[in-house]
Amino acid sequence: MTISKTTYQNTLAFAKEQDVKDPLSHFRDRFHLPIDKDDNPLVYMCGNSLGCQPKSVATYLEQELNDWANLGVEGHFEAENPWMPYHEFLANQMADIVGALPSEVVIMNTLTTNLHLMMVSFYRPTATRHKIIIESDAFPSDRYAVESQIKHHGFDPSESLVLWQPREGEELCRYEDLEAIVKEHGDSIALFLIGNTNYYSGQCYPIQKITELGHRNGSKVGFDLAHGVGNILPDLHKNGPDFAVWCSYKYLNSGPGSLGGCFVHERHHRNTKLNRFSGWWGHNKDTRFNMRHGFDPIPSAEGWQLSNPPILSMAAVKASLDIFAEAGMKNIRAKSIHLTGYLEFLLDDLNHDRISVITPRDPEQRGCQLSIQVKNADRSLHDQLTKAGVISDWREPDVIRVAPAPLYTSYEDVYMLVEKLKQIL
Ligand SMILES: *Cc1c(COP(=O)(O)O)cnc(C)c1O
Repeated sequence: MTISKTTYQNTLAFAKEQDVKDPLSHFRDRFHLPIDKDDNPLVYMCGNSLGCQPKSVATYLEQELNDWANLGVEGHFEAENPWMPYHEFLANQMADIVGALPSEVVIMNTLTTNLHLMMVSFYRPTATRHKIIIESDAFPSDRYAVESQIKHHGFDPSESLVLWQPREGEELCRYEDLEAIVKEHGDSIALFLIGNTNYYSGQCYPIQKITELGHRNGSKVGFDLAHGVGNILPDLHKNGPDFAVWCSYKYLNSGPGSLGGCFVHERHHRNTKLNRFSGWWGHNKDTRFNMRHGFDPIPSAEGWQLSNPPILSMAAVKASLDIFAEAGMKNIRAKSIHLTGYLEFLLDDLNHDRISVITPRDPEQRGCQLSIQVKNADRSLHDQLTKAGVISDWREPDVIRVAPAPLYTSYEDVYMLVEKLKQIL
């Protein structure tokens, strides 16, 4: 899909015209969009926190409920979508979304659990190489997970945790500062763990450059794509990090607390010396049910599975991934760049002295989210927006995060968001 180089206009008519021209606009109808008490549709800008429900989820779930009711245990093989290989149905589509080989991707557990499992394999500290680099604004769960891993290995986070942080008076992390950290800490760095896209600033870091920097330094490199999956094109196989983890309830619209995803680069699949926490679902499928001793890992990301997966949750993931496959991740990203560009244009046009966008202006360095900093604001601004029918997200001390998710957000939504903001300010 090519995006015509329209010149944006600050009118409702222009926004509506963009919706008519948008080749993905019909996907909006596939989702339940949240409504207020009087059934009026809300302007939903929180797809970065919990994506909207695909209408098809109910049908997908019903299929599994019926098969369970009618088939009982036989459903493992006899269900319309047999439960035994159910996660395999998801891997191809998931791999397309993150730019991986199907063998490199598995849907399992939840995000923080997967992060721990990946660190079990890829954080193997020694007396001299024990440090982990994260962004200073890393999501709290990631930071807790990393600190606990450091302690688990007998090290002290105050020595082993290294923060990549924005310079004084700035909001974004600079790549050259990461290079400086690597120069300073060198061989003592065991792992880079970077949240991409950053949940707070919306900044998207260069995956390939960071991976190469880490690998040149002899470190392992992993990414948390909670805010990246279904949003940017991380091209994981080509860019080459050792692992990545994500959740499916944000841009992937798979329901509250739904399953996580995990990427393990092909180069590690046959390395039996890698440490790992194992379970029967990671064992060779041909002999799994012989129930013998001696763990024989599947030579793919599946080898990191522990348990047989929750099919009801996976049915919701499948409903959502089928929509992504139909729309095409590259098309989604192309619309996203244009749609968020429109949001940025409208905010610029507001030209309000209390407002600044902290997210990078370069579309390559961000996903769909813009983080709007409002001078002297407090939570009441966010509450007023909510009252006006805009669902956004507030981060202390003064940032509103808005994420026009391209599958169901219209240009008109974006226009209305900025109109309401203008009225409130
Ligand atoms: C949403 C999010 C999480 C949440 O983790 P769960 O294990 O799914 O609860 C963790 N890390 C990041 C970066 C997130 O954005």
